[in-house]
Amino acid sequence: MSAPTAQLTQLIHHPYTPPAEFLAPQPGVFKASTVIFPSVAAMRAREWKDKSAYTYGLHGTPTTFTLEERICSLEGALHCVLVPSGLAAIANVALALLGSGDSMLLPDNVYGPNKALAAGELARWGISTQVYNPMDPTDLARKITDRTRLVWLEAAGSVTLEFPDLLTLVRLCRSRGVVCALDNTWGAGLAFNPFDLLPGAGEALGVDVSVHALTKYPSGGGDVLMGSVTTRDPALHRKIQRTHMHLGLGVAANDAELVLRSLPSMALRYHAHDAATRALVQWATQQPEFVQVLHPALADSPGHAHWQALCSAAAGLFSVVVDARYSTAQVDAFCDALRLFQLGYSWGGPMSLVVPYDLAGMRTGGLGSLACGTLVRFSIGLEAVADLQADVAQALLQLEA
Ligand SMILES: *Cc1c(COP(=O)(O)O)cnc(C)c1O
Repeated sequence: MSAPTAQLTQLIHHPYTPPAEFLAPQPGVFKASTVIFPSVAAMRAREWKDKSAYTYGLHGTPTTFTLEERICSLEGALHCVLVPSGLAAIANVALALLGSGDSMLLPDNVYGPNKALAAGELARWGISTQVYNPMDPTDLARKITDRTRLVWLEAAGSVTLEFPDLLTLVRLCRSRGVVCALDNTWGAGLAFNPFDLLPGAGEALGVDVSVHALTKYPSGGGDVLMGSVTTRDPALHRKIQRTHMHLGLGVAANDAELVLRSLPSMALRYHAHDAATRALVQWATQQPEFVQVLHPALADSPGHAHWQALCSAAAGLFSVVVDARYSTAQVDAFCDALRLFQLGYSWGGPMSLVVPYDLAGMRTGGLGSLACGTLVRFSIGLEAVADLQADVAQALLQLEA
């Protein structure tokens, strides 16, 4: 039997024109590695870097360009690149802005894998890293040197929920001429404006670069890993975009589609997570087993005044420090006894999650105003608050067992 060559070819070269009059509100999902050029001249002339044209799937499709524009709207940015995870966004920034002999500053409560990248690849490539106390701007001021090229900021820290004096830290970086990059996963573009921290105040103050784990609230489903790097500065964007291209950091169209579908409900979800979290936080402060409850809206949580000055909302995270008279094994048993809260990393999805942390091992500069004891971080999903509260209450009985 001869091979059906005609059909093979026809099925590949089947005529297709995107429907011009198909005005659905949802953006189309365009999947491609190859993009066809009408001529060699067009192939040579086409420029994707300003998004005026398409050249190759890795360099952008209508789907990813649309998502980039929406992330810019969310954060008040002008330029965006999408990467396969929040951690890839952090790495993209470091690799774009740092070279051998340069130095970087990280807050002591920074997202852990950022420290691991610094101690691993960055150190091997001759880039040094210092850690500063995010709750003490004078510590950052002391540690910026003429080799410092990048200062990371995080508000709030995602395990201890300490909220730094972001305005002072950003002003400090400005006055010393150092690029500052914010991990904006917690604020998500909803708690405050990273590129316009004082809207309407007459002082243009914002971070230079924002990275965002879209894995969290923009996805909202616990089923997508993605990150973004946004900026208002075209020169910074060009550097980030060049490194993004050299590293081949693309995202899949189906993942971009899921985030595009979730974005319209993101603000509603964020505020629902926020309200449920604050209700549980109030209840947690009354439990004698918890010696400290960490959430920036609590008056005695580290950095509360800074959060209050900047933010209109908070993410769905809070932590408790369990009284040091309970052993690690007892705190583990408490976490194991939770039935609705599942043991797992990440946050921003519909299911509530819990993780115990050994805080002492995570900090180089001491605990500051954090209490001694095992820390347990809760990520509040979208379940009924009363059910979540009852779950923690029944698990607390394990502490006494
Ligand atoms: C989750 C998270 C990241 C990393 O996101 P991934 O997509 O999981 O790589 C970065 N920063 C913060 C604050 C996060 O919570």
